[in-house]
Amino acid sequence: MGTKAREIVGSDSKKIVALLNKAFADEWLAYYQYWVGAKVACGQMRNAVVAELEQHAGEELKHAGMLTERIIQLGGQPLLKPEDWYKQTNCGYDAPADPSVKALLKQNIKGEQCAIETYLKLAEAVKGKDIVTYHLALEIMKDELEHEEDLEALLADMTHK
Ligand code: FE
Ligand code: FE
Ligand code: MG
Repeated sequence: MGTKAREIVGSDSKKIVALLNKAFADEWLAYYQYWVGAKVACGQMRNAVVAELEQHAGEELKHAGMLTERIIQLGGQPLLKPEDWYKQTNCGYDAPADPSVKALLKQNIKGEQCAIETYLKLAEAVKGKDIVTYHLALEIMKDELEHEEDLEALLADMTHK
C-alpha cells in the first residue's frame, strides 16, 4: 500500500480487507450459482432467462475482480482457497437443485437482495474512513440493484401470462 493510501485508511485497513474478502467470497459463489443455473435451466422463457443468468454471472465475476484490486491496494490478500468462500460468505450458496426457471429466478432474487444488503452495510462501515472502498461498494451495489430488478421483471412476465 502506498504511503498516502496508508495515511488515509490508517489502522482500519485490516478490518476493511476482511469485509472485502467476505464480499469476494459472495461474488464467486454468486458467479457459480448463475453459471451452473444457466446450464441446467429449463421451462418457459428458458432462452431469455439463460441470457440474463449468463450476463449476471459475468458481472459477478467482474465484481470479484474489482474487490480483489482493492484488497491488494490495501495490502491484503484475496482468499486463496475456494473452501474459504464457504467459510467467509455472507449470502451463502443456493444449489439450483430445482432447475425450473421460476425456482432459479426466486433463488437468485434472494441472493441479489442479500448482496444489496451486504454492499449497503459495507458502504456504511467504511463511510468517512475509506472513500475508495465506499465508492466501490456503491458502484457494485448499483449493479446488484439492477440484477434484482431484471430477475423480478422476468418472474413477473412469467407470472402474469
Ligand atoms: Fe455481484
Ligand atoms: Fe448480482
Ligand atoms: Mg441483467
